[in-house]
Amino acid sequence: MTILTDSYGRRIKNMRISITDKCNFRCVYCMPAEGLPWLPKSAILTYEEIARLARVAVDLGVEQIRLTGGEPLVRRDVPELVRLLHAIPGLRSLSLTTNGTRLPQLAGPLAEAGLTRINVSLDTLIPHKFFQLTRRDALAGVLAGLEALEAYPQIHPIKVNAVAMKGFTEDEVLDFAALARRKPYVIRWIEFMPLDADGIWRKEDILTGAAILAIIEAHYGPMVPVTGGDKSETARRYRFPDGVGEVGFINPVSEPFCASCDRIRLTAEGGLRTCLFSEEETDLRAILRGGGSDDDLAAALHAAVQHKELKHYINDTRFKRTKRSMSMIGG
Ligand code: SF4
Repeated sequence: MTILTDSYGRRIKNMRISITDKCNFRCVYCMPAEGLPWLPKSAILTYEEIARLARVAVDLGVEQIRLTGGEPLVRRDVPELVRLLHAIPGLRSLSLTTNGTRLPQLAGPLAEAGLTRINVSLDTLIPHKFFQLTRRDALAGVLAGLEALEAYPQIHPIKVNAVAMKGFTEDEVLDFAALARRKPYVIRWIEFMPLDADGIWRKEDILTGAAILAIIEAHYGPMVPVTGGDKSETARRYRFPDGVGEVGFINPVSEPFCASCDRIRLTAEGGLRTCLFSEEETDLRAILRGGGSDDDLAAALHAAVQHKELKHYINDTRFKRTKRSMSMIGG
């Protein structure tokens, strides 16, 4: 099998799979308060279809799979899907991005099924700000979900992803830094990207990773860069001067990392996207449900990757927002 490589020589090793468009939160930087018109069940790939696509992708060199949503854990029996994917020979890492509220019940079954890594989204530690952002009174549930994970060391590291927004994030940077030192969580701030359904994104609302690092260094002194990671790693990682705790910065706007991008994405209804900001998708569900073979799927993956976008154009006058919001793409 020929390894998936795009026309710029970037090898594709990372596949993000959205398993639902639904979510139990209504984050202002993602979807409207009333939610979105949900996809009918028949439109969404079954776990067997996802596992088959994943197997073909792993045969073509994909090594890491991350499950996303919407909120993936609102879909039933996710540990069964994890079990199916974990059994794929050659898959090196299986992770999940979640808002954490279902982890008190599911952390154990997910660990037992073979989940190895996890990202929990948490943008604030203050209840009223949490409600303001997510339109849900669920901060305690997310923190309980993180606590539940600590009982399963096989799921490691526990990454906490916070979307950084100017005028919202600054006053809690040191609280999150202290959390990274007190708990086995790696805190990462992600720059706000124009993927919200309401179109509220503005460049001036971006709080850069560099600005957050400056707040931390003003308090703790110079942070120690963590080097030697995978070159396609999106986060800039730092340890505290005394070695206790790690934080990271994902800066797609101020420091784009498209040159080393190794990612493709699968939407819940089987659309293959070669970039977060793709304007086109390849319909793999039609091949799956049209009696196509694994070779047909492999050919479609190769053809799509050959047209993978060079980069995003957020900092460019040519930038056009994608028609899909984050909840319809998955992180
Ligand atoms: S914007 Fe597109 S090309 Fe750039 S890192 Fe993200 S997915 Fe890759």
